[in-house]
Amino acid sequence: MRLLSLLLLILLAACSGGERSAPRPRRDGLPPASRPAPPPAETAACLADLQGLGVRFNPLPDRRFAGQCTALGAVQLLDIGLPVTNLGAMTCPVARTFTQWVKNGIQPAAREILGTEIVRLESMGTYSCRTIAGSARLSEHALANAVDIAVFVMADGRRVSVLNGWAGASAEEREFLAVVHRSACRRFRTVLGPDYNAAHRDHLHMDMGRGPFCR
Ligand SMILES: [Zn+2]
Repeated sequence: MRLLSLLLLILLAACSGGERSAPRPRRDGLPPASRPAPPPAETAACLADLQGLGVRFNPLPDRRFAGQCTALGAVQLLDIGLPVTNLGAMTCPVARTFTQWVKNGIQPAAREILGTEIVRLESMGTYSCRTIAGSARLSEHALANAVDIAVFVMADGRRVSVLNGWAGASAEEREFLAVVHRSACRRFRTVLGPDYNAAHRDHLHMDMGRGPFCR
């Protein structure tokens, strides 16, 4: 009899334990962050990939902030071969995909199309606890799962910006931006640029959330 009640207790404990980790609806009506923390093995494999790409980075401790914002399985990129302004916490999958895009996507595109090299990238940030503009849904930036790139600075001194170059006067800069956008779409889950909406007229938004979506 005692054994039976002990078993029952264990079962109950297991059930309530499971319930505790389920997302709860927020009182202010915002949807809960729908993604759980990545399995540790997945993060470990991603960190090994980053190491294999020859970048310098610091793994960051998991952080949970107010308003369902999180930075889980995230890293701080320190050196990916060229300076990138404004990089904060990024989930490892975003950091890995971003590094591959820079090394294998946009740098070769700059050489082929513009005959020069990218020497600096200007970003508009990574982690930011906010909702999507005009929506109550959390942005992928609130999960450290996105990066925004605004300007590509070239070795020959050119500054190719999404704002001025996307539909600008230079045909080769337009081609370059179209190619790096397409290259991002092949790698990230969601990519948004000037053709998506006015909020993206001055940068390419790239994330590893829902998708595939490319515009
Ligand atoms: Zn963005």
